[in-house]
Amino acid sequence: MRQHASVVGMTLRKPCLRRYWWLLLLASPISASAQHQDLPPELPSLSSLPVDARLARTIESTRAIDNHAHPVLPPPAGSSDKDFDALPVDNMEPETDPAAWRADNPQLPAAWAALWGFKVSLPLDAEGLKRLQAARARVKAREKQHYAEWVLDQAAIGTMLANRVSMGPGIEAPRFRWVPYADALLFPFDNTGLAEATPDRAQFFPLEDRLRARYLHAVGLETVPATLAEYLSKVVTPTLEQQKAGGAVAEKFEVAYLRGFDFTDPTRAEADRIYANWVGRTRPDAAEYKVLQDYLFRYIARECGRLGLAVHLHTMAGGGGYFGVAGANPLLLEPVFNDAKLRKTRFVLLHGGWPFVREAGALLQKPNVYLDLSQETLSFSPKTLSGWLREWLETYPEKVMFGTDGYPLSDAMGWEESTWIANRNGREALGLALTGMLEDGEISRARAGAIAQAVLRNTAAALYEDRK
Ligand SMILES: [Zn+2]
Repeated sequence: MRQHASVVGMTLRKPCLRRYWWLLLLASPISASAQHQDLPPELPSLSSLPVDARLARTIESTRAIDNHAHPVLPPPAGSSDKDFDALPVDNMEPETDPAAWRADNPQLPAAWAALWGFKVSLPLDAEGLKRLQAARARVKAREKQHYAEWVLDQAAIGTMLANRVSMGPGIEAPRFRWVPYADALLFPFDNTGLAEATPDRAQFFPLEDRLRARYLHAVGLETVPATLAEYLSKVVTPTLEQQKAGGAVAEKFEVAYLRGFDFTDPTRAEADRIYANWVGRTRPDAAEYKVLQDYLFRYIARECGRLGLAVHLHTMAGGGGYFGVAGANPLLLEPVFNDAKLRKTRFVLLHGGWPFVREAGALLQKPNVYLDLSQETLSFSPKTLSGWLREWLETYPEKVMFGTDGYPLSDAMGWEESTWIANRNGREALGLALTGMLEDGEISRARAGAIAQAVLRNTAAALYEDRK
């Protein structure tokens, strides 16, 4: 990881959404009044929300499968662990952060209190941060290698899908299941030109180049082979097979940070020609390179189907002021989902597609397309999330999965706190959506309970069964 920017002793890291969200509270107008606030009020529990009581008990007691998160290795590796994301960039240009991500989010102290018994009012100053870190360190010292599992226990998460470059001691099956990254395989040529597109991509592509070098090393190569046939047979397929053998249950694409979802369906002959023409050369023609990427995406998706690996796609407006929101519209993926050759591949739209939540919902009609609530559960209030969640549950209830996108956002908001907050919001949103359907006579109480368990656990359990 790069050098972190540091603000009043707080270390900034880029989250999954690639943003600086942790603003300097002491300098903000909001914080001036917050300094005089008492401890934040207790957050509402499910039982205090307008949620059916029996349904609330089901939702609270179900050990969830978290479809997507970035847990960090516990001690002794924790502080040096950099594999929790393929693109852990730390110094992106600022953007306007959504309110829920700012440091005066009252859920943050609630998470500190629940996890560490650490009670403090906002804003957290440098001394408060030290005390928070000490409180967290005490739990780490107590739990040791079981620390990450302990974090899951605090959120009633039975299993977390860990989107990481590699797994390690303490982040292991059965509580954690591996989801590695496939993007580096899409860009086998010189990426200098692509990196020039935006300041963010100038940081992303060198990281992808490094990960591809790691993948090449793992298959005994130093450079990409001379032909596409060799690249597919000696690099792409063996990498996927190695990851499958290493316990992977899905492959993750965060390609929306690198280009749009407009994948065409080129012929093999076209891809062969382009590969042979540009391999080893600098600055490949952008249009031709895109055609090769399109071919590789479908090839990898098909291989994932063959190997029983699901395909995870970041589908949400991403972080960073240069993220291409329009290119992340999941409707652009419809030709891929309608490719009969890819029907054995199960696709999961991570983060529910926001802001294209209706587009994402409509795509659930495809038999092999699912979505999850990760990151939405962190970024949106339960009430807001429950609106579009209800629409999805009214249409394709067996295609929606719970998720947090727990991520080490900063020293003050680790993957532990973000997991805890998103878990809480997600369960509350589920309770609100299903209670609405129950009260409006759309479903029985038994059906509401069954849908709750499907979202929290059963759909994911079935999806990731090894189908090979
Ligand atoms: Zn993520």
